[in-house]
Amino acid sequence: MTPKLDVTGVSYSYHTLDGETLALSNISFTLAPGEFAAVVGPSGCGKSTLLSLLCGLTQPDEGQILIDGLPLSHSPSATGYMLQKDHLFEWRDILSNVSLGLEIQHRLNTKSINRLKEMLASYGLKGFEHARPSELSGGMRQRAALIRTLALEPDLLLLDEPFSALDYQTRLSVCDDISSILRTTGKTAILVTHDLSEAISTADRIIILTPRPGRIKKILTITFPQDCQSPLERRNCPEFSRYFNTVWKELKTHE
Ligand code: ADP
Ligand code: MG
Repeated sequence: MTPKLDVTGVSYSYHTLDGETLALSNISFTLAPGEFAAVVGPSGCGKSTLLSLLCGLTQPDEGQILIDGLPLSHSPSATGYMLQKDHLFEWRDILSNVSLGLEIQHRLNTKSINRLKEMLASYGLKGFEHARPSELSGGMRQRAALIRTLALEPDLLLLDEPFSALDYQTRLSVCDDISSILRTTGKTAILVTHDLSEAISTADRIIILTPRPGRIKKILTITFPQDCQSPLERRNCPEFSRYFNTVWKELKTHE
């Protein structure tokens, strides 16, 4: 089966007046369709840089990125990008915030609006279609941001620390919600996080990066018993602390 995402030997440097900063070096991994990967690594190791390369905002200096076997620039697949801040516009209500992408692409019609309304209802935002972002809790705003991203029907979803601005309790439940939404829609996703628990409770595989320049330290496959699949169930499963210790040790030891 052709991988959804195939990254081979990717390196990237930033060029500034002070010189060159190697941010990522020789990154290679693949992602199967429907797979959920988490990327963890110390602050500044190149996690956000990796996502900008994967969505084509920046081009690698070396290496190649294929989506469905095609170079990124030739791929018809849509990539969705969700950031730490929800970037909802206060002057638009929730429905017109989540429909913004479709509006820009001239794809807004009765059918697509009804689909968005159904998504709002099934993701716990029924009755808030005409509310302003400031009337919503942090968790509801983040779900609205997810709907705005999913509205464009991306095949590959890139999430850059999307829960880190939320308080701990909200983060747990939004992380639970969002990962089950992604599971049921069968999206291939990459979640960047500095929170090891978040990575272990959501991902099929964890990509551990070294400090800058980010290199692949280890790729760990995560498997939980059938009755421990949701993030909250995983957190209460005995395997959880075993994985936590493994990832923690990998992050602490550097050759
Ligand atoms: P992370 O998301 O893992 O915290 P980033 O991908 O944002 O890390 O950044 C990786 C490294 O690249 C950082 O250590 C930073 O020094 C450097 N960097 C990031 N953005 C820029 C930029 N626009 N110009 C120069 N250097 C940058
Ligand atoms: Mg970052």
